Amino acid sequence: MEKNFDRAVLEDLLKRRFFYIPSFEIYQGVSGFYDFGPPGCSVKQNVISTWRQHFIIEESMLEVDCAILTPEIVLKASGHTERFSDLMIYDTVTKEVFRADQLLTEILKTRLKDEKLDEQLRKEYEEIIAQADCYKEKEMHELFQKHKILSPNNNPLSEPVPFNLMFSTFIGPTGTTKAFLRPETAQGIFVNFRRLLGYAGGKVPFAVAQIGNAFRNEISPRSGLLRVREFTLAEIEHFVSPDRKQHEKFKRVAEMELTLFPQKQQLSDGKTIGMKVKDAVDQGIINNQTLAYYMARTHLFLIKLGIKPEGLRFRQHLKHEMAHYASDCWDAEILTSYGWVECVGHADRSCYDLKAHTKVSKTELSVFEQFDEPRMEKAYQAKPVMQKIGREFQKKARLISNHLKQMNSEDAENLKKNIENDGKAKIEIESEEFELAKDHVEFSLEDVKINGRNFVPGVIEPSFGIGRIIYAVFEHSFSVREDDKRRGFFRFTPAVAPVKCSILPLSSNTDFDPLIQKIQSKLTLLGISTKLDTTSTTIGKRYARTDEIGIPLAITVDFDSLNDESVTLRDRDSTKQVRGNYSDIIDSVFQIIQGSLTWEEVTKKFPAFNRPSDKD
Ligand code: AMP
Repeated sequence: MEKNFDRAVLEDLLKRRFFYIPSFEIYQGVSGFYDFGPPGCSVKQNVISTWRQHFIIEESMLEVDCAILTPEIVLKASGHTERFSDLMIYDTVTKEVFRADQLLTEILKTRLKDEKLDEQLRKEYEEIIAQADCYKEKEMHELFQKHKILSPNNNPLSEPVPFNLMFSTFIGPTGTTKAFLRPETAQGIFVNFRRLLGYAGGKVPFAVAQIGNAFRNEISPRSGLLRVREFTLAEIEHFVSPDRKQHEKFKRVAEMELTLFPQKQQLSDGKTIGMKVKDAVDQGIINNQTLAYYMARTHLFLIKLGIKPEGLRFRQHLKHEMAHYASDCWDAEILTSYGWVECVGHADRSCYDLKAHTKVSKTELSVFEQFDEPRMEKAYQAKPVMQKIGREFQKKARLISNHLKQMNSEDAENLKKNIENDGKAKIEIESEEFELAKDHVEFSLEDVKINGRNFVPGVIEPSFGIGRIIYAVFEHSFSVREDDKRRGFFRFTPAVAPVKCSILPLSSNTDFDPLIQKIQSKLTLLGISTKLDTTSTTIGKRYARTDEIGIPLAITVDFDSLNDESVTLRDRDSTKQVRGNYSDIIDSVFQIIQGSLTWEEVTKKFPAFNRPSDKD
């Protein structure tokens, strides 16, 4: 973001040039939905193809494209039907609805502005704000009561209640199969795990990616693309052995410096630290190499898109922010005029997801690892005491005893622990539960020859909100010229720019047509998108128009071009121009777009050209 950044000027440009606008505009729209127009659509596709190249292709990931409408059972298994909710609260008089944590944060932030505020209270407010989205209903209610929080209209508020963010529907005409629009793309990957494992040769680590839309019925969508109800996610599920989270390409990023905002700093001086990736892992600040590797790759990806390094940090989740199963989480946050915005989540989700789906689907989602040499290991074995089991469970006795005999060491050890702790433990066989007591089963630790092991892989998940990233790119690329502060333009990188090169004939004279056609087809052949502007407005105005949508280069054809096929090439950022033969100029355009030539180098290759200028 530039100094003196004016969001209103940016928003005006985004809307006027149809980057994106609220959906269903002629019907007054519905909040939380946006339509991308032509330049916005190109930028979005460019961000996605940069992502595909940077992650899927460079990291040899497997890509899937799964159904959006998801039956209830899948999201029940994953825990979404029960837990994917925000707390909602409403004004008891006007019935206006708020997201409880947002309202709480806003009101406390306003109170913090009061310089006379008691120090103790200031500290308390700051702590509440830091964890506002983690409170459960009861705690939230108590906070509203304790701090006497009313609605913005000064009316009493209801008690907070959880509101599930998933959009529900029914599949088929009978209405019996309940379903939801997926709230994330990850579940499609987990449910296909067995096939993906087969595709990956039966071994971990391997990574699977999916790009697609996700839907969340946000209580109060706001801040443009930052909090919407339908958005594109690009997610990676990287499967690892839970005890081997090293990454084979870690060395390549080990020396990179990232801006980190670890838990410790958040809870003390509130300052970020610059740290080499390898030091962060060695010192246990980032939990493991794979998680750190992805954070470094995310940093490189965002910089490629034009995010300014000083406006990018990785914030670690505080303990209470993390799901109980997660071992470490870091959000890539980008500084925008709305503050630091979470754009990419990086979570070590341990084995939670695959275990959850194994349990409900009764499909083993695990990996068998064959050892190079068989190993002798100590293993727990469960031995049924048939006399007791027979007496108590009668017809089911054989079923139970077979189950116990086949139990692996880990399960036998768990059963042993549970029985020791509680005197009894439940086991589930073919959807039926049985309660075993101490005298039903004996345990022994024995030397056994093991050829391999079966394990449920852990998952490391980087999750990219494409809309948020695009908005951050808009802010970080937005610029105004000294002499025209009301009119902005985008300094998009060539990869992001919606169109790469504009072609501008000096006038609408048809004599220019043959050369223009030659230029356009040569550029197109090289895969460079063009925008031809033959309108009769002044060349200066046309430059401003192409700048506005962030086209990095412009080729101008004038009357001299008709004699010697020379054209001018203009650089958007410096507004400088050079002149050369059209074919040589196009070769340079190609190299600039590829990133193998800089404008500086171009100015050394070709003579400068000073007329017509931007003012003409
Ligand atoms: P989560 O699964 O909640 O960690 O979200 C993953 C990513 O999706 C976040 O890092 C955001 O970039 C993006 N995201 C989440 N919710 C929204 C939303 N309502 N609107 C736009 N992007 C979102």
